[in-house]
Amino acid sequence: MKTVIVGGVAGGMSAATRLRRLDELAEIVVFEKSGYVSFANCGLPYYVGGVIGDRQQLLLQTPESLKVRFGIDVRVNHEVTAIDRDAKTVAVTNLTTGERFTESYDSLVLAPGAAPFVPPIPGAERALALRNIADTDKLAEVVDATLARTRSERLEASIDETVARLEPTAVIMGGGFIGLELAENFSQRGLKVTVVELADQLLAPLDVEMARRVERHVVANGVAVVTGASVASIEDGAVTLSDGRTLPADLVIAAIGVRPESGLAAAAGLRVNGRGGIVVDGQQRTSDPHIFAVGDAVEKVDAVSGDAAMVPLAGPANRHGRLVADVIAGRAVQARSVLGTAVVGVFGLTAAATGWTEKRAVAAGRKVRVIHTHPGSHAGYYPGAEDMALKLVIDAETDAILGAQGVGKSGVDKRIDVIATAMRGGIPASELADLELAYAPQFGSAKDPVNMLGFIAENMRDELTETVQWHELEAELARGAQLIDVRTPGEFKAGHIDGAINVPVDGLRDHLDAVEPDAIVYCRVGLRGYIAARELVQRGHRIRNLDGGYRTWAAG
Ligand SMILES: Cc1cc2nc3c(=O)[nH]c(=O)nc-3n(C[C@H](O)[C@H](O)[C@H](O)COP(=O)(O)OP(=O)(O)OC[C@H]3O[C@@H](n4cnc5c(N)ncnc54)[C@H](O)[C@@H]3O)c2cc1C
Repeated sequence: MKTVIVGGVAGGMSAATRLRRLDELAEIVVFEKSGYVSFANCGLPYYVGGVIGDRQQLLLQTPESLKVRFGIDVRVNHEVTAIDRDAKTVAVTNLTTGERFTESYDSLVLAPGAAPFVPPIPGAERALALRNIADTDKLAEVVDATLARTRSERLEASIDETVARLEPTAVIMGGGFIGLELAENFSQRGLKVTVVELADQLLAPLDVEMARRVERHVVANGVAVVTGASVASIEDGAVTLSDGRTLPADLVIAAIGVRPESGLAAAAGLRVNGRGGIVVDGQQRTSDPHIFAVGDAVEKVDAVSGDAAMVPLAGPANRHGRLVADVIAGRAVQARSVLGTAVVGVFGLTAAATGWTEKRAVAAGRKVRVIHTHPGSHAGYYPGAEDMALKLVIDAETDAILGAQGVGKSGVDKRIDVIATAMRGGIPASELADLELAYAPQFGSAKDPVNMLGFIAENMRDELTETVQWHELEAELARGAQLIDVRTPGEFKAGHIDGAINVPVDGLRDHLDAVEPDAIVYCRVGLRGYIAARELVQRGHRIRNLDGGYRTWAAG
């Protein structure tokens, strides 16, 4: 049996190598239109930034190594240009020689990925994008040339004012994962970077109050951020924004998302959805039973809603690539739905998310319970603990976890991964309380931050605590609710929410007369507020705790 695979990186090579491990006799041919296979796409920004110094490190395999170890026929610089479904052949062009030929298949796997989207604006041809090794070489070359040019211009310039104007500049269109990774790497190379994001926040997989933390950190590290505007045109050495501003830009990057490379599939009459995703069944089979598809080009099933979703991430591409080999080898397997678990590191800060945001859940009409906490990465008494912000979004009717987000310096990825695992296992929010997680003081807490989310979820489910979200506070105060800051007088003096009175939780029992029957309490992160609320609720007050405390409110 002969399997032809189109695309030789994440999904395609996972399929090819797994198929060999399952079927020693299979004939496996991989066509890859670029000059490289199995390269580390996710590492590309770090080569541009110099973190990965050796270009060779990006090239995980070569056609030769794949031939020697797996007996796979890998042909780079070969583009598949058409599929003849009746004849079960593909048309191929050798991009080096121009030769055209057809190749037959018994099974065909499409893993063509997705291409960066460059908006159709004047000067769009000046924008660079980052997808493959050729893009990386070009980008590294442009960065080097820009830095060298600025250095020599600076040497020639004599007055300070001119020197200030001779900073090498980059504008990155798009404040998503790749945009921020490039912002960090460009900065570290010495470029003055501006990230321009059309939405009112960076990082769409986070809610705004979580994304603001990332934005503040990025700005504190010298990157300018413009939200709520887009690049309207690219000129020589500058960009003009949709709000009329111009920014200097020696180089411009398009990192505003990707579009599935599904043209080949569509031209062959395979079913493609409205967003260009190739439609597949639970075994990654397209509308033609002999053709499979995986990776960024393919529609996936959203784990929360069961609806179709486009999730261009390496994990699903690799897993589904492996799975398709199982299907071709005759194993009974079924593709899983996708949570979209993702993480990014930027200037030492980690932002991670899994499942749905609050805004997505609300937009979908779900009734949600939301929890914000600010735990330490490990026990506070052990040196080196770092604060993080965690957010859990829960279906208020079923207690199901809809999603989670985390931002912090250390330990964020671990917590989001645990919650993603819980979601995959169908563990309800309240049962996070019972997860038995590894603990010693340098790694976590006996009540791990994930357990704490579970305790709060349980308290909310059982109505032991009622909370107000940061974005609901203004309306509650306008309605006449009393606002009580239960932190110390020193903390209150250093900054508090307008309209609050200060009644510290320590000694609250001696000042009950200051508390009205309907009040909202808050502290720094929500814990002392909860203690105060429990004290007062048991005395007959209706007390709600500002979720996530002053820190979440301030971030929002
Ligand atoms: C800079 C960058 C950083 C990233 N970082 C992360 C990260 O940190 N975490 C994460 O989860 N994901 C990350 N991703 C996304 C991840 O790389 C993709 O989700 C994953 O590679 C998708 O796998 P794929 O097999 O669908 O496509 P790809 O890995 O893109 O492979 C598709 C290949 O098919 C080839 N091809 C297309 N059409 C044809 C044709 N007609 N004939 C022959 N060959 C063809 C293309 O040349 C391409 O090499 C990153 C992506 C980029 C670009």
